[in-house]
Amino acid sequence: MSGLVREAKTLQGIVAMDGPSGTGKSTVSRRLAVACGAAYLDTGAMYRAATLAVLRAGLDESSPTEKIVAVATAADVESVTDPTAPGIRLAGEDVEAEIRDVPVTKLVSAVSAQAEVREALVARQRRLIDAAVAAGGGIVVEGRDIGSVVTPDAPLKVYLTASDEVRAARRRRQDARAGRAADAKATLADVRRRDRLDSTRAVSPLHAAKDALVLDTDELSVDDVLTALLGLVEERGLCSPTPR
Ligand code: C5P
Repeated sequence: MSGLVREAKTLQGIVAMDGPSGTGKSTVSRRLAVACGAAYLDTGAMYRAATLAVLRAGLDESSPTEKIVAVATAADVESVTDPTAPGIRLAGEDVEAEIRDVPVTKLVSAVSAQAEVREALVARQRRLIDAAVAAGGGIVVEGRDIGSVVTPDAPLKVYLTASDEVRAARRRRQDARAGRAADAKATLADVRRRDRLDSTRAVSPLHAAKDALVLDTDELSVDDVLTALLGLVEERGLCSPTPR
């Protein structure tokens, strides 16, 4: 990171970062937020925490939809938007590790496909975004529908892509680092399954907003993507990070 350490300069407004899993969204979004002195919001973590609440209520995919929706919409989900120590709490409990586990990953796309669940979480996301902007700083927000639905007026929208294979390999490395051994075939199948569910759902399906800049990260390292993003925010006058 040394060559990319920047002096923090407050970001103006919102950067919307969308794309499927395994594109490096979280890492680059967080680093961009740190570099620009901005807040950072991981909306996927919010859907995951609401899904954890569903599982903890003893429900699963076969449970009645109304019950799933009732628990997920009432879940007390709280996001910490400091990019140097981001976090997610469910009823005050730090659930950052548990929301990445297999049961949540398996169920989250089904829960997040429910319109009422999205409505409840999008309202919370907008409150957090408004608060960050009102505080005088910007915010980097990552998810699936940020540029298309949550903040359609964001001055910079980026959509990260990569091939299924590259994304699955990244997901496996990430899982291995977190102590979750995962089979290559199973990981690829899960990446494809979630993409299919996320991009074919009726409400807010995963897609690049019309005015989003699409960046294919197959051949790019995290540093390459961050360099490209820093160039974009600077070019648009949203943040002026200068090399230390
Ligand atoms: O980003 P992450 O992989 O943690 O997201 C988990 C799931 O949450 C996605 O597969 C998707 O179903 C859902 N999600 C969503 N809208 C967002 C962010 C995440 O539907 N803005």
